[in-house]
Amino acid sequence: MATTYSYSCKDYPGMEACPGHFIAETQNEVMKLMELHATVAHEEDPSAWSEEDKAYIETLIKTE
Ligand SMILES: [Zn+2]
Repeated sequence: MATTYSYSCKDYPGMEACPGHFIAETQNEVMKLMELHATVAHEEDPSAWSEEDKAYIETLIKTE
């Protein structure tokens, strides 16, 4: 079975109430889905995220 990458928004500190959960075939796709979600659901601006922010988010992405 192919590897899947998943991200649960609630794993991010302060986002415990968010049901957002994303699964894709590549880490890059999960990041794109999560950035879209952050923009729409949390009114975030992913282009303003620092490299540290992105590196931290990547540690929250699970592989199966
Ligand atoms: Zn969320």
